[in-house]
Amino acid sequence: MMKETVAKFAREKIFPLVRKMDAESNMDESVYRGMFDNGFMAIEVETEYGGCGSTFFVANLVIEELAKVDASVSVTCDIQNTLINTLFRNLGTDEQKDKYLPKLAAEYTGSFCLSEAEAGSDAFSMKTTAVKDGSHFVINGSKMWISSAPHSGVFLVMANANPSAGYKGITCFIVDAGTPGLSIGKKEDKLGLRASNTCSVHFDNVRVPEENILGQLGQGYKYAIEMLNEGRIGIGAQMVGLAQGCLDSTVPYILQRKQFGKRLFDFQAMQHTVAYLATEIEAARLLVYNSARLKEAGHPFIKQAAMAKLYSSEVATRVTSKCIELMGGVGFTKDYPVEKFYRDCKIGTIYEGTSHIQLNTIAKLLEKDYIS
Ligand SMILES: Cc1cc2nc3c(=O)[nH]c(=O)nc-3n(C[C@H](O)[C@H](O)[C@H](O)COP(=O)(O)OP(=O)(O)OC[C@H]3O[C@@H](n4cnc5c(N)ncnc54)[C@H](O)[C@@H]3O)c2cc1C
Repeated sequence: MMKETVAKFAREKIFPLVRKMDAESNMDESVYRGMFDNGFMAIEVETEYGGCGSTFFVANLVIEELAKVDASVSVTCDIQNTLINTLFRNLGTDEQKDKYLPKLAAEYTGSFCLSEAEAGSDAFSMKTTAVKDGSHFVINGSKMWISSAPHSGVFLVMANANPSAGYKGITCFIVDAGTPGLSIGKKEDKLGLRASNTCSVHFDNVRVPEENILGQLGQGYKYAIEMLNEGRIGIGAQMVGLAQGCLDSTVPYILQRKQFGKRLFDFQAMQHTVAYLATEIEAARLLVYNSARLKEAGHPFIKQAAMAKLYSSEVATRVTSKCIELMGGVGFTKDYPVEKFYRDCKIGTIYEGTSHIQLNTIAKLLEKDYIS
């Protein structure tokens, strides 16, 4: 039922605006609001806070369905559900949950602030600090690549409250938009995912009360790792949806265009390419669904999640590239959606851990499996 609701919303409300949002590098307000009004921004959040009270698996289905039409809208939904809401739900005090979850369900996005200019894959080498001052902490530093920053009402900021302890000083702070000293920097001009605003965020003597620590002091590194481990499943779902959306935009064209007196689809080379791509998407989808299922059942899932993200982003890269070839010249133009899928898919190999980082994780866990 949820899949059908999302598909209808994507078809009727997002699809007509995709090209405009990509060109203007901005998400249309009607799409942003519609995501909240339809409950897509609080899928697992309990109903008492205004959420759907649904499951992690369903969240991934929603992310996949949205990505079939627009990967930028999909990632906005993904970050809210798999990172921001989950951090509040798992770690928030009753007061924090009462204050933020209803707003995250109905009003605004939250932003996850981990990366910095010099701390990307090596995120825990961050320079942002939080210095205790009485009952407050004073945050200084700059974060890079922060998705949805201009729209967000709250920022979950990883800052080191005890640099002498290394990564064990990293702490997660809740910082409200509008807090003095917090400013949003320039919007990145990106290859793809253009309707998702990605900005730097600066913290210049930002004072937050100690009640704004989310979870425990010095445990931020652990929370970040845990969230990204499961967040990767969402990125896998995004890549599967994107690849499917691209194939769905291609096949109808080759079923009707004729060359040499035949439909393009009648050439066996074309049929085999489509069959191969559809098989790859199905394999990626099963990796994603399996890791979501393992996570939900409380089983180890980190290796499978890394494999799902790695593989589905590679599949999305291959599918979108091949779809342009299947369509010929028109696939290379903005008259059809295929070139945008091709640009959008590239991010799958970069954020929430690059492909190298996924391979490092898989190899480390394989080594453990074999040694034990
Ligand atoms: C559109 C977009 C949205 C984003 N949204 C957010 C967000 O909301 N919040 C947030 O905190 N961050 C966000 N990010 C940041 C993203 O997570 C980082 O870009 C990513 O972690 C990679 O870091 P980097 O860009 O600094 O690349 P680098 O770490 O500099 O990597 C460059 C290359 O070196 C390789 N490499 C690095 N270390 C190793 C290693 N140990 N072994 C093998 N290879 C290695 C990488 O795989 C890559 O190929 C976003 C990024 C983008 C582009």
